[in-house]
Amino acid sequence: MDKLSKESKEYLIKREINEYEVVIGLEVHAQVLSESKLFSSSPTKFGSEPNTQVSLVDAAFPGMLPVINEFCIKQAIKTGIGLKAKINKKSVFDRKNYFYADLPQGYQISQYKNPIVGEGSVILDMPTGEKKVNIERLHLEQDAGKSIHDIDPQSTLVDLNRSGVALMEIVSRPDLRSLDEVNFYIKKLRSIMRYLGTCDGNMQEGSLRADVNVSVRKKGTKELGTRCEIKNVNSIKFMQMAIDYEANRQVDIIEKGGVIDQETRLFDTKKNETRSMRTKEDAHDYRYFPDPDLLPLELNDVFINDIKKTIPELPDEKKKRFIEKFKLSSYEANILVSDIETSKYFEEVSKNSDVKLATNWITGELFALLNEKNLEIIDSPISSNNLAKLISLIKNGTISGKLAKSIFEMMADGDKDPNKIVEEKGLKQQSDPKELEKIIDKVILENPQNVKSYKSGKDKLFGFFVGQVMKRSGGKANPQLVNEILKKKLN
Ligand code: ADP
Ligand code: MG
Repeated sequence: MDKLSKESKEYLIKREINEYEVVIGLEVHAQVLSESKLFSSSPTKFGSEPNTQVSLVDAAFPGMLPVINEFCIKQAIKTGIGLKAKINKKSVFDRKNYFYADLPQGYQISQYKNPIVGEGSVILDMPTGEKKVNIERLHLEQDAGKSIHDIDPQSTLVDLNRSGVALMEIVSRPDLRSLDEVNFYIKKLRSIMRYLGTCDGNMQEGSLRADVNVSVRKKGTKELGTRCEIKNVNSIKFMQMAIDYEANRQVDIIEKGGVIDQETRLFDTKKNETRSMRTKEDAHDYRYFPDPDLLPLELNDVFINDIKKTIPELPDEKKKRFIEKFKLSSYEANILVSDIETSKYFEEVSKNSDVKLATNWITGELFALLNEKNLEIIDSPISSNNLAKLISLIKNGTISGKLAKSIFEMMADGDKDPNKIVEEKGLKQQSDPKELEKIIDKVILENPQNVKSYKSGKDKLFGFFVGQVMKRSGGKANPQLVNEILKKKLN
């Protein structure tokens, strides 16, 4: 029943587009960028040997007490401000009780009724225009340990390095309507948190994961359909595949007259399908209650205002400024602000050269180079300083755009200074009209037949003359000047 044949799946996708609408709400778990855990001073470094970052608190030894990490609180508040959300002056830590081998406390410390951050919103720059996604809340909680099933065939191993690591759970309203919107939403959240330095957004390392809630309904219906929640999906692509599968599964059930059971499901990345894990538990199953080891968290205005003062310019504001100050298109601005490092690089290059050329060279040649070498812009083989120099050389006519491309390639090998390359290889563009005239006169003198044909109307021959001049100059003649002078001489 869960598995659909390929044909029926394709058919369903078509049917869904026509008649059904998919409704998605995400619970994103973002690991707080912090050197120590939420309630202990253990380090949080990724990739350490198993069970080397575990204090007695993280292993839940009897009598150990949690001590709140002020830095993590600040990070959550920063993120809340970045989500244009209400910061709650009073919040409460609760125990969420359940048993699992990698949860030594027997409960997770989380926030239930009184989260640290309330309602906010995120703007998505969709190709079709802006879309607002409402945020329900952001709360702090501790991560559990990790169960490892694939090392020992006989038993499951437990690694408590993650136990107690601070997570921010960011819950969206069921406002997302397509796979594309999910993609834009996750990227925007990640971008905001990276600007703020509150989460590194590294999905491969599990710093950003989501529980994906999916329901379907007939288009035009007001009420929401029954949802299924797909747990712990750790890449955008898997989120999209899981939603696609899940939406089709639900439409299929409804079309056959069935009803959707509210379930918690798993996405099997190998089989590309979702599978039932358990019927959805309700909040009361967890026996939430305020953790008696922790006082309610009370924040005063001074504390919150001091944090507000540290908030940098965020992507939306930066985009606005780029459009106004640099006259960029909305499309260009989106590309340049989406990643904070890219925006810094762009500002450095354009400050010392030319905005238009900087935009084109960064989004064109540089992105292609980074892509090819699989590098982030922060590790770019060409520094912003040297790219600015290259652009200045184009701008002041020292080199042609075409030549600049080959110089760019040479620069990539060890961040070479383009001025030096031009000098060493004698690549300077010939822009002295007197010198060019000499070459042009020679070419005209040596080709009387072609001059005659050109003058009698064979316009196409103009290219021949340009070609000859370029050849004689070793490719260095300024093509624009050559055109101008040739036109004057031949007419
Ligand atoms: P729980 O904490 O039990 O998972 P919540 O009410 O907090 O439940 O909702 C969790 C997520 O489910 C939110 O992101 C919300 O937007 C989403 N959601 C709620 N109802 C639906 C629905 N009918 N379809 C899709 N998503 C939904
Ligand atoms: Mg949930």
